[in-house]
Amino acid sequence: MSALQSASGKSHAANPKTYDVVVVGAGFAGMYMLHRLRRLGLSVRVYEQGGDVGGTWYWNRYPGARCDVESMQYSYSFSDELQQEWDWSERYAPQPEILKYANHVADRFKLRPDIALNTRVDRASFDESGNTWSVTTSDGSTVTAKYVVLATGCLSNARMPDIKGLADFKGKVYHTGHWPHRANYPEIRRFAREEARNGIYTEMPDRGALDDGDNERRARYESRWAYGGLTFMAVYNDLALHKPANDTAADFVRAKIAEIVKDPQTAKLLQPNNHPIGSKRICVDTDYFATFNRPNVTLVDIRSNPIEEILPNAVRTAGKDYEVDALVLATGFDAMTGSVAKIDIRGRNGQTLNQKWAEGPKTYLGLMSAGFPNLFIITGPGSPSVLSNMMVSIEQHVDWITDCIAHLRDRGLDTMEADKQAEDSWVAHVNEVAHTTLYPQANSWYMGANIPGKPQIFMPYIGGVGVYRQICNNVAAKGYKGFAMTAAEQPQKMAAS
Ligand SMILES: Cc1cc2nc3c(=O)[nH]c(=O)nc-3n(C[C@H](O)[C@H](O)[C@H](O)COP(=O)(O)OP(=O)(O)OC[C@H]3O[C@@H](n4cnc5c(N)ncnc54)[C@H](O)[C@@H]3O)c2cc1C
Repeated sequence: MSALQSASGKSHAANPKTYDVVVVGAGFAGMYMLHRLRRLGLSVRVYEQGGDVGGTWYWNRYPGARCDVESMQYSYSFSDELQQEWDWSERYAPQPEILKYANHVADRFKLRPDIALNTRVDRASFDESGNTWSVTTSDGSTVTAKYVVLATGCLSNARMPDIKGLADFKGKVYHTGHWPHRANYPEIRRFAREEARNGIYTEMPDRGALDDGDNERRARYESRWAYGGLTFMAVYNDLALHKPANDTAADFVRAKIAEIVKDPQTAKLLQPNNHPIGSKRICVDTDYFATFNRPNVTLVDIRSNPIEEILPNAVRTAGKDYEVDALVLATGFDAMTGSVAKIDIRGRNGQTLNQKWAEGPKTYLGLMSAGFPNLFIITGPGSPSVLSNMMVSIEQHVDWITDCIAHLRDRGLDTMEADKQAEDSWVAHVNEVAHTTLYPQANSWYMGANIPGKPQIFMPYIGGVGVYRQICNNVAAKGYKGFAMTAAEQPQKMAAS
């Protein structure tokens, strides 16, 4: 019997298919969640639809895949021993090495016995009479759990494009997010690139782009460009906020691309022209732009000449056929909400999460959604998630959720649920902060713009990882202000603040 079961006075020993916590997903979030909950003495079952642990790094094996946060930062920090014994071979670790690291963590902390691989969670419904979740998996079995934690990942639901003829293509078709496991292209891997993006720890200067004269500004951009990586957008403190400032960075990058890419037409297509630079992920990367100078690389502008159809051996745009042996669909993901939406999640009164989120995701702190008690989301919409070093955000959420479950257990509390009012205020705040930046001006996946029909809302919280952590800590310190809790044996609500 687990600590939680003994605290709530309920024994599940007679039924082995009852757990304190079901965790969905065995990427970095699910693995660390398991580790922390086990240390609380709880019984935990992790379900992972993939054939092994690692999440993103299990699925995305395309040539050149690697992280765009420096490896020293893109690592767990919860164990000193783990940090000491693991060495990264490169500044930005390639995918095979990150996957090896994930496997090392799974073995080192003996996580595997509690992880069911090749098992998808199809359905989770909340039983209001017993305050438990009933979770049904792809092998047809159902288990119950007091808590469910969605560690399903922000970029784990690969988006397959709907293009006429795709199904009849005779060559191989790959999606970057479902890359075959035996593929290995060392030659292409040499051209591996890292992308730069916002939200990672770096010194932010106390000056804006227009505070410097032309020469000084160019020198600063040059030096960051040469250094490489995502800190390029942190040369000045207002690049994401002020369009004239942003334009100086965009001009610099456009000039760089024109310098590197020999064909002016190709260079023009690669230059950021229809959105503030940085509001979509930027490529400030070794050899990325130079790749377009290779004789076997052709860039076709499908914005002005959309793909008309896929023929058995070619791609047709504007009446011209490009013969190809294989197709790689680098069409991204139904980000942040896609994997959650695929699960039939039913909360109070049988309401589904998809119904509730029909006009865009609604959460309090990105951690819980009102009407869905004891259901936690790791790096959910409304938290910094994809705008941050995800390892930092994952650890922060897992630690917060662990403390929260311990709090409930220690006080004999049965349910915890986001308060509707607190949730509405948070959603409004997330939106308001987003609109103080240039991000919503881009048709990006942060906005859901790559998925036809998806509500266009800026999903992550852009207020900053530090600010956000402080908010979460304050909420916890005030007895989980903004969350409603019920006691184990009493149906009435207890004020949490
Ligand atoms: C190509 C690529 C590069 C990236 N690079 C970086 C980077 O440099 N820095 C950074 O901070 N972030 C990066 N990310 C984001 C990355 O997703 C996170 O860093 C991190 O790996 C997320 O871990 P996670 O455990 O939250 O989710 P994931 O790694 O996505 O794991 C979620 C798991 O849940 C499983 N799952 C989903 N639904 C179900 C279900 N219904 N039933 C069972 N299992 C389910 C999935 O199969 C998956 O294995 C990158 C993402 C991609 C795609």
